[in-house]
Amino acid sequence: MRKITCQCEQVFNVDMGDSVDLDADPSLVASIKEGSFLSFVCPTCGCVMHTDIRTRVDWPSKGISLVLVPELDRISFLSGTSPIDSGLVPVVGYPELADRVAVLDAGLDALAVESLKFHLLRRSSESNPGARVSVYFERLDDAGDLEFHAHGLSETEIAVVRVPRSVYERVLADSRERPDAEPYALVQNGAYLSVQNVSFEDNANE
Ligand SMILES: [Zn+2]
Repeated sequence: MRKITCQCEQVFNVDMGDSVDLDADPSLVASIKEGSFLSFVCPTCGCVMHTDIRTRVDWPSKGISLVLVPELDRISFLSGTSPIDSGLVPVVGYPELADRVAVLDAGLDALAVESLKFHLLRRSSESNPGARVSVYFERLDDAGDLEFHAHGLSETEIAVVRVPRSVYERVLADSRERPDAEPYALVQNGAYLSVQNVSFEDNANE
């Protein structure tokens, strides 16, 4: 049982443990990607609460155990005051969980994908200085190219960005050849692998 607090201040229990196993319940893969995982209906006001409560996501067939760190705990997690168990791979905030599960489900390498995001965000910060853009992997399209969604370029629209599979393969090979080079070392902070480890705001002031 987990406790959820709604915006209407109702506190209610949901029938769910602290961890899930994606091999034991493969339908969770789609529900995480679609955004219905960790969403609960408030029994009082009927609101759907989209939460990012701390949850361990085991995926033995992928050889990985993720732990979702709530976005509100990002600072305490990064400063080490809210540590996670060793051996777990952290993702911070729901969008990163959905992204990482989609990446692993597509059989892609997370370091190469975060590095592609680095290149996309750096380019975007040069052409749209000051914009707060985030990029998430969405899926492989029918041609096998990578589809990303960029949020924040415009107030209303999500931009779809396609990266050819050949570019991904080149970045993947390069990341294995030169793991200490930019941007591979920059996107990794201990066990936390994310392009959000890099600040692009400095570029806006140059
Ligand atoms: Zn409510």
